[in-house]
Amino acid sequence: MVNKTFWRCNICNDIHYGIAGPETCPTCQTKNAYVEVTKEEAQKVMGF
Ligand SMILES: [Zn+2]
Repeated sequence: MVNKTFWRCNICNDIHYGIAGPETCPTCQTKNAYVEVTKEEAQKVMGF
């Protein structure tokens, strides 16, 4: 079973949902900037 979680870019607050954060942020091009966050944190960042 694969557990998908939320990941947030430390630099530009981009939210990614998946098994792991992208190696390079598609928005700000920063490498290894993603940190795992809870669903609640991700929703807060996205403005829900
Ligand atoms: Zn970014």
